[in-house]
Amino acid sequence: MQYRKMPKIDQNLSILGYGCMRFPTKFARIDRELALKQVRKAIDMGVNYLDTAYPYHGGMSESFLGDYVLKDGYRQKVKIATKLPTYLVRRPEDMDKFLNKQLQKLHIEQIDYYLLHTLDGPSWRRMLSLGVIEFMDRIKSTGKVAYMGFSYHGSREDFVEIIDGYEWDFCQIQFNYLDENFQAGLDGLNYAASKEIGVIVMEPLRGGQLVGEIPPEVQAIWDRAPIKRSPAEWALRFIWNNPHVQVVLSGMSEDAHVEENIKIASEATANSLTEEELEIIDEVKQTYHRLLKVGCTGCRYCIPCPVGIDIPYAFQTYNNHHMFGGRLSRRFIYANLVGISGDSSRWTSTCIDCGKCESLCPQQLEIRKHFKNVQRDIETPGIRLLARTVRRFTKKRP
Ligand code: SF4
Ligand code: SF4
Repeated sequence: MQYRKMPKIDQNLSILGYGCMRFPTKFARIDRELALKQVRKAIDMGVNYLDTAYPYHGGMSESFLGDYVLKDGYRQKVKIATKLPTYLVRRPEDMDKFLNKQLQKLHIEQIDYYLLHTLDGPSWRRMLSLGVIEFMDRIKSTGKVAYMGFSYHGSREDFVEIIDGYEWDFCQIQFNYLDENFQAGLDGLNYAASKEIGVIVMEPLRGGQLVGEIPPEVQAIWDRAPIKRSPAEWALRFIWNNPHVQVVLSGMSEDAHVEENIKIASEATANSLTEEELEIIDEVKQTYHRLLKVGCTGCRYCIPCPVGIDIPYAFQTYNNHHMFGGRLSRRFIYANLVGISGDSSRWTSTCIDCGKCESLCPQQLEIRKHFKNVQRDIETPGIRLLARTVRRFTKKRP
């Protein structure tokens, strides 16, 4: 494992941080035994930064860390990052209420790295009006929190306003080779670095879009590269190539992910990619930009929808439909889940236009507008008729 020093802070953090939002699950709950084994294995192999948040795993991620992972001397081996759920803060006193609850769930006296969760310009201004500066100064001076930062999902302009608005120790931004010019982007990263603010990167694999099933056109580019690497390795090396990035967060839900990521983190150094390698990554980036229709990262912040639409699943099917050549089987699988077995989702056409999902989406997607395309390409009249007919015969839904 390699470590990079946080600017302003005398601490070396592992360049790979453990994202605690995608633990392995069993019956929709954290698979305690497996997750514990995986996180501790990562810590034993040198990971020293764990990133969680109030809502991860339905509120159970923090408790899982406090009740299990941080026992047996593991607290002393890691830095804990968690986040104030700014979107739930209505009154000034809510901030203390959430922080105290988080300290209690984690069973710790001090949170090492505390972030205002998922800020953008409007939410930052709202938090200012609720007295967040006084709150941050106070919790640092009383020792409940060691370092203050924020995670960000807004425009580049608002990022600068927030960076300039407080003496931050660090920030957390979405950054990967597809998102160099999205949200804070590379400009934001450089701006934070110029002010000696540490940079933690989230979504390095864009919610898994850059790994797993790779479009043939993209795979053909990787295959031409002089060095053979997995898509995950290309994506991670791209970020670690930037010397201003201190930590890259990865939500590792399988043993193989932990092992592969740690191996890459022990080899990938700053400024090590050659011109030729950067050109290959750029070609892949251009190809993805052409193929990806909706920039949904699958974060599921928009869920639950009041009528039960599985929004990320609809967008994943729609994107895959375009990236992998419009296979009919993909539409059948979608129709089976949504229109036939139908216990977990509903057609996007049942949307009641409440807009709740769009106000929660960190990617600022115009979800309802994209639904029109999902309906045109995936939820076609033929597919819906087929689902209705099958359902009538199987009587799975009244
Ligand atoms: S706008 Fe539609 S998809 Fe979004 S939360 Fe409301 S009903 Fe669900
Ligand atoms: S639509 Fe937005 S909030 Fe929902 S999963 Fe996709 S990126 Fe996340």
